Parts: sequence; C-alpha cells; structure tokens
Amino acid sequence: MEGALQDDLATLSELNEETLLRSLSHRFSRNQIYTYIGDILVALNPFKYLPLYEKEVSEQYKWHEKSALPPHIFAVADRAYQSMLGRLAAGPKNQCIVISGESGAGKTESTKLLLRQIMELCKANSQLEQQILQVNPLLEAFGNAQTVMNDNSSRFGKYIQLRFFHTSVKGAKINEYLLEKSRVVHQDEGERNFHIFYCMLAGISKEDKEIYGLLDPLQYRYLSGRYNSDDMLTHWSTKYREVCNAMDMVGFEEQEKVDMLTILAGILSLGNIAFEPTDSDGMKVTEMSVGWLKAAAGQFGVKEEELLKSLTCTMSVTRGEAIQRLHNQQQAEDARDSIAKVAYGRIFGWIVSKVNELLAPKVDPDVELSEIGILDIFGFENFAVNRFEQLCINLANEQLQFFFNHHIFLMEQKEYKEEGIEWEVISFKDNKPILDLFLTKPIGILSLLDEQSAFPQATNRDFVDKLNNKFKGTPHYEVVQGFNPLFTVIHYAGKVQYNAGGFLEKNRDTIPASIRGMFINSVTPLLSVLFAATISRTGTLMPRKAKMMESVDDNFNSTRKQSVAAQFKHSLGVLMEKMFAASPHFIRCVKPNSSKLPDLLDDKLVMAQLRYNGLLETVRIRRDGFSWRPSFAEFAERYNILLLNPDLPLNKESCMSILNSTEFKGWKCGSSRLFFKYWHQEELARLLERLGRAT
Ligand code: ADP
Ligand code: MG
Repeated sequence: MEGALQDDLATLSELNEETLLRSLSHRFSRNQIYTYIGDILVALNPFKYLPLYEKEVSEQYKWHEKSALPPHIFAVADRAYQSMLGRLAAGPKNQCIVISGESGAGKTESTKLLLRQIMELCKANSQLEQQILQVNPLLEAFGNAQTVMNDNSSRFGKYIQLRFFHTSVKGAKINEYLLEKSRVVHQDEGERNFHIFYCMLAGISKEDKEIYGLLDPLQYRYLSGRYNSDDMLTHWSTKYREVCNAMDMVGFEEQEKVDMLTILAGILSLGNIAFEPTDSDGMKVTEMSVGWLKAAAGQFGVKEEELLKSLTCTMSVTRGEAIQRLHNQQQAEDARDSIAKVAYGRIFGWIVSKVNELLAPKVDPDVELSEIGILDIFGFENFAVNRFEQLCINLANEQLQFFFNHHIFLMEQKEYKEEGIEWEVISFKDNKPILDLFLTKPIGILSLLDEQSAFPQATNRDFVDKLNNKFKGTPHYEVVQGFNPLFTVIHYAGKVQYNAGGFLEKNRDTIPASIRGMFINSVTPLLSVLFAATISRTGTLMPRKAKMMESVDDNFNSTRKQSVAAQFKHSLGVLMEKMFAASPHFIRCVKPNSSKLPDLLDDKLVMAQLRYNGLLETVRIRRDGFSWRPSFAEFAERYNILLLNPDLPLNKESCMSILNSTEFKGWKCGSSRLFFKYWHQEELARLLERLGRAT
C-alpha cells in the first residue's frame, strides 16, 4: 500500500479511518510504534521490550530536525525543550505535553521516558536531577495498583511541572488529581490495593515488622486475603527498597518515614475490625477483633476508647448540646472504612506536598523561570456502572478535548492568516455545550450537585430529579426512567450512563469533627499534622484558617469545606489556564489489545480509541483543510517536469505556470507557499505518471 510506512500520516494522500488504521497497524507489525499525524505523536503500546530508548538513541534525538529521524517520543521531548529555549518557532515559552489514552495505553511509561530525556537534554546530572527522577517511583508506590486493565495502573492523575532557568532545571512541582481512595478498602476481583502495602509487607525486616505491629499479610481484609504469589515477593521487596531509597533521595526524614509506615500499618489493622450488636442499642467490636482495635489505636497513637467511640457513634452539637447517635452495623463499617480512606488520602497528599516543598526551585522569587509541564491523566471511562469518579474523569477529558480542538483548529488557521490566504472556516465537533452542561453556574451538573450536597437530608434521587428537571430535552443529556438514580450524558466520546448512588456522600467527603479531633491529638506527630492542616488544592499543606479564607474568596460558603466537585473544578480551571498559556504538544497513546500481549493489534479496539482520542477528527481537519503546504521552491523543483522544463527558476511565477497548465481547482497561493487539498497530491502523481508513460 502506498505510504503505509509513512512517518507522518498527515501526508498520506488518501486519508480516512481505514487508511489511518491500516498504516498504524502495518507500522506496528514492524515495531514502529511511533507515528506522527502532523504535530501529534501517536504511540502504540508494544507490551514488550523494544531497543528504542538506549543511550545512543537518546543522543541521536538531541537537537535534531523532526523529519530527519523516525518518529519518537524523544523527539517530542526535544521539541518541547528547544521551544522552551526559543530555538524553534516563536510561541509561548512555557510548554505543556498532554498525554492521553485509556488505562494501559502507555501514558505513565511515556511520562517517564519524557522526564528522562528532558533530564538528558538539560544535562542536569545533578542531585536535583536524581531527585526529580525519584519522584515517579515514589508516587507510583502510593498511587498505583494492579487492575484488570494494567498491572501498574495509576489511580490518580498528575501534572508534573519542570522549572528551568535558561537551559538548566531548577526544580519541579506536582499537582495530583482525584486519587482513587476507595481502593484502600475495597478491590474488585482481579485487582489489588495500592502497591505500597504489598511492598511494605514483603520488604520490611522481621524486627521492623514487630515494631510496626505488622502480621501475616494473608490476615488483612483490606488486602482481600490475596497475598499469595511467591514470585511477586521478590518483586515487591525490591520495590520496597526502591521506595525507601527514593524517600531518602528526595529528602524525607527518617522519623517521617517511620510515622508513615506506622499509619499504613494502622490502616491495615483498622480494616480487620468487625462489629456486632450489643445487648442494648449500639454496636461493639467482635470478640475476634478486639486485638485489631487495640493494634489500630496503638498504631494511630490514639486512645482505644476514643477510636471505638468514633467507630460506633456520631457526635454532633446542636444548639450547644452534644448529641450522641449510635451507629448500626452498616454505619460502623462505613465509619471504619472512611477513616482508612481519609488517612490514606492524607498520606498521599502529604507525600506530594513534601515532594513539592523539597523540589521547589531555590532561586530568588523575581527570577523568571520557564516551564515544561507533562500531563498524565486518566482517559475517558465508560464502565458497566459509572460513578462519581467516572463523572470527574470524563469531565476532565471533555476539558482536554476542548483544549485539543482549540489548538488544532487554531493552528490550522493560524498559518492561513500568516500567509494571507482566504479560507472557509472549518467546522468541527465543538464540545463546548457538553462542558457547559457540567460547569455552567448556577445550573450546571456540578453546581446542582453542590447545591444538593449542602442539604443534609437530600438524597441522590433528589439530585437526579433536579438534573432531569433542568436538563430534560437538552441535546447532551438523557433522562433515564426508573427507580434507580441514573442519568445519561452524551460525551464527545460516546454516551455514558451514570449511577448517582453515593454522589452526595462522595462529593461532601467530610469527616466528623470528632474523628479529626481524635487524630489531631494523636501522639504520632505525622498524623496530628495531617489532620491539623488541610491539604490545599495545589498540594501544599496550609493552615486551616488560611484555607477557609480562601474558600470565602471563592464565593463558596455553603459548606465549611469545599466539596470534591468544587475543588476538582477549581484545579481543572487552574490547569486549563496554564495550558492555554503554553505551547502544547500532544501524545496520543493507543492500546493495541486488551490482553496486554505483544505483537497483537485488535482493529476494533484501536479504531475505537482513534475515535475517542479525536484522531479521526484531526484527520478530517487535515483532509478538509489544506493538508499539503509546499514552499514555492519545493513545488517548482518537484513539478517543473510537468512543463518539461527542468531549468525553471524556483519561485512563485514558475509555480503559477505549472499550476496554470493543469486544471486544478481549490488550491491557494500564500506569500511563501502553496496550499493544497489532500487530493491535489494524488492528482499531481497521476499527471506525473501519465507523463512518464508518454515519454
Ligand atoms: P497507562 O499509564 O496509560 O495506564 P502504563 O504507562 O502504565 O499505562 O503502561 C502499561 C504497561 O504497558 C506498562 O507497565 C508496560 O508494561 C507497558 N508499556 C507501556 N509503554 C511501553 C513501552 N514504550 N515499551 C514497552 N512497554 C510499555
Ligand atoms: Mg498510568
């Protein structure tokens, strides 16, 4: 097939779904996993080792012409770095690299490769470089887990910003989004808890095990009793050493590490506490789990009675009077699980803020730094049951798609303007209305969710009724009839039915004041810090008071604490602002098959991703726009033969003479180049062919 091995698919003369898929598939079979579509890099996950990232390759891709070497992720690193230094076309100095794709497509591996190559490019070779490279293993241990889709699946989104002064790296900052805390207390079949638990249990010494009060891993309910495979033990204990090493390198203190492990051990013990009814109305800890209660209290550094109380009843203050409400079994179990989730979430937030503190650029505040940001965030999700987490993730993807569209169309039309040619505005599937459905104030989905979350009595059903009421009949919303609190949103990537069960709870994400109080008084210093301070949306620890002031500024005062939706909306907004002010680079990761197998490409699966990823749209733009833009010289040199005159000067006039000898329609002439539709190249090829036959 013509052009099957082409490196840049935007130059394929015949460009549609079929040819795109066939080209990618053909390249994949030859281990060419990287392909350009114009300025976008498509990366197919090989699920096997390929010798693509060796030292020599890394050297080759330093400061090179894009077209001189095969497509590569290192080329993207180079382009971002050189653009930041102003060595390429003018544009904003700050760069952002947006990596997208579904779970297991290779986003996180791509992030790591980019980081590594950028560190190579700036020849950092300093302690700072080592620290920056250690951040990933650290975050992965705490934020990644084995899932059905990916053995090392990131259960949070992140934006890593590398800060530079001229050519050298000065620091880094990480923003994290939406850690999947529920994984701490529950994992579906075939999935695991966060890596760190297994690493800790496998890697810790016998003596330390005793110190931290860790027991046989099989006993822990939060690990689902699935700690079996012996072959994994070595893997985990190696990882554990890596994590400890990373913590040392980044600069965590010994005591902080000890505290952290103690809290993790406490979470495991907590999970084993079971309840049974007392003779009176309340709940008590079962005979079997009295020991676990004792252990958890010890590990958390709190009083046993206090922990018991926070599990078995809720204290509230109404009109100055303390009221105690006893939990039933479900409530006691929920209290237990929510303490575990909160504690884990805070540890994760603390690690990120600590990393940010340690890696903050040590330069005068008035020194202007430039930045390369790398966004590694979960792709669009559509499961059998879609919950609050999926809603947030899909909203983030709508935002990214909007950003992508904006950039692609803008870029497409920028050159027309610069070259002074007229064009028809190219239409595209604008997803702004879907974003509005979520974000409009005061009646977007998120605002309505916050409104309902502020009413203690409101139910998830009430929330969905409100949605139905407001959005019935709007193009991107569908009412779902029936008893369950369901609703459907028609996303750019397809229809998703959401189950609003748990939405209000998850959005409020509050912990009772009594539990906070208990932890603030913990004798474990870290725990007390984690609960005394609120971890801000930017990932730094800040005093509660300042945080509350900030909330007032944000005009958000319906609850004491910002809701999850409001926080997420805010951090997305901040991210978008940053990204819109930067020069973007896009990497679209594609998963070739669902079985994590090498050398296997499932056409249907890949095609679906090309659609979700907006690649087909991009192809369409290239097709509807002027996809081929040769300079006058380029064109005259190649096609002067059509006038049988190899000595034509390589200028505009010659181009016009050549083109006037044809019957071509629809091309345009700019100030330095010609603009052709994709089919013109084919027509020219046909003319050349005819000429070849005639002579
Ligand atoms: P995502 O972050 O998109 O969920 P990952 O980056 O974690 O996916 O990739 C999933 C797995 O695929 C990795 O653990 C690794 O085994 C494999 N993989 C991804 N990219 C590559 C690559 N470039 N070369 C070899 N294997 C890869
Ligand atoms: Mg990942």
